[in-house]
Amino acid sequence: MAETYLNYIGGHWVPSSTGETYRNTNPARPDEVIGEFQRSGPSDVDAAVTAAARAQDEWRRTPAPLRGEIIARATRMLVERKPELAETITREMGKVLVDSGYDVQGAITSGEYMAGEGRRMFGDTVPSGLPNRLAMTVRDPVGVVAIITPWNLPMLMPAWKLFPALVCGNTVVVKPAEDTPHAAVRLFQILEEAGVPPGVANLVTGYGPEAGQPLVDHPGIDMVSFTGSRTVGKQIAVSAGGELKHVSLEMGGKNALIVLDDADLDEAVTGALWGGFSTAGQRCTASSRLVVDRRVADKVVEALVEGMSALVVGDGLDPETNVGPLINAKQLERVHAYTGIGVDEGAELVIGGEKLGDELGGGYFYSPTLFDHASPDMRIAQEEIFGPTITVIRVDGDEEAIAVANGTRYGLSAAVYTRDTARALRAVAELKAGLVYLNAPTIGSEIHLPFGGTKDTGNGHRESGTAAIEQFTETKTVFLDYSGTLQRAHIDEPTGDAPA
Ligand code: NAD
Repeated sequence: MAETYLNYIGGHWVPSSTGETYRNTNPARPDEVIGEFQRSGPSDVDAAVTAAARAQDEWRRTPAPLRGEIIARATRMLVERKPELAETITREMGKVLVDSGYDVQGAITSGEYMAGEGRRMFGDTVPSGLPNRLAMTVRDPVGVVAIITPWNLPMLMPAWKLFPALVCGNTVVVKPAEDTPHAAVRLFQILEEAGVPPGVANLVTGYGPEAGQPLVDHPGIDMVSFTGSRTVGKQIAVSAGGELKHVSLEMGGKNALIVLDDADLDEAVTGALWGGFSTAGQRCTASSRLVVDRRVADKVVEALVEGMSALVVGDGLDPETNVGPLINAKQLERVHAYTGIGVDEGAELVIGGEKLGDELGGGYFYSPTLFDHASPDMRIAQEEIFGPTITVIRVDGDEEAIAVANGTRYGLSAAVYTRDTARALRAVAELKAGLVYLNAPTIGSEIHLPFGGTKDTGNGHRESGTAAIEQFTETKTVFLDYSGTLQRAHIDEPTGDAPA
């Protein structure tokens, strides 16, 4: 009998108001049930938002260093439990253990950084234009924050929003992806043990339209922090923006890894294999397009095929595996449909393009797939596939490489392989992306640096590091006048003119 997991609202583990649950299974072995999770609806969301609103004043008045100390305690538990948490993620989401370890480590590093932020959270002290006056900024929390996350980074994503939101004094309601609620439950068990007060952090599991949308629409929500698809993000921007809520969106990518003709080709191919196929390509930053100088393209494709042939597809718990399953049957069909689209568009299918479930015990496995001779306007070169598919586009020279890299609606991550510093720096200047890597693939940002994308990838915010503190606070400008008289800014300010 599968275990049943509950929502966490107001400091209590509770079932959904309708009593309905849904079943979560292992994508490598769909017969293996992970557990039954609450299928929440609007009344559960309302209870969670109400609990968060009630807890708001006390939490925002709790000194930030103390809030940071609670986060530090939770982080220490994440460190102790890292191996078992990584296994939980692999069972639920499929990716190989090393990728799941990265996922937990991202949560840990975020916790470490944000715990320290409790003793920083700097404002500015600036000179006033008037004498005997102090001018400064302090930070207030935004209020009650809705956190909505995707399934591909089941622990890192909730954590890297939760920790900065909490240290800044916000209270939160988290709605994790329906495919990965177990990692979120484990994270909330840790928050509870670490002493996060009742109501400060709440968890509601369930489906997007049934639990996510009511959360976005709830009048008690002051801010929505969302990571997921462009389609859903746009919808959230309209509904939450219409109510003038703060909205932070991180969405898809179609990231280009550029190989210039002078690149170290072994290094570039190793980078492309990691960037394209780790997490089975289910990364917003995946190196899904290879933009290769025509003069070296044959060599690159040949080496890629060799590297891809050696990749082992299988259960992520098996240490021999390089590429785990896709998240669910729908995603498998979607990725396979793109193979058909690529073939119909006239790109050359070099290797892969097959469902492997029958050979591998019925899981949602897909073979690493390579398209060559794609043109930049093909759908496989424009749309996010979110699977183990790399599309090669051959170009003539640096200028065309950069134009092709910039030629999609997305602007998340880009990479350039070259040995020439001047060519590298010209590319950095021209690439329209939130992240640029030189001689490294498009994946693997670090938690103390800003993360996010331009164009349709985001709406101008950045996650992580100090950027997250900006996102989760309101700036309050404070003037302290000790002149003992009325001083009028821009009227009574000394001008420096010589007295008449
Ligand atoms: P998704 O948009 O389908 O779902 C994301 C979350 O939104 C889930 O929790 C889902 O339940 C919820 N949701 C769905 N409909 C909703 C609605 N109407 N209202 C409110 N919430 C709703 O995305 P996904 O399939 O889980 O994740 C894959 C996508 O996430 C890809 O596009 C990927 O590029 C993107 N992603 C982006 C980043 C980034 O930082 N830019 C990181 C990871 C993933």
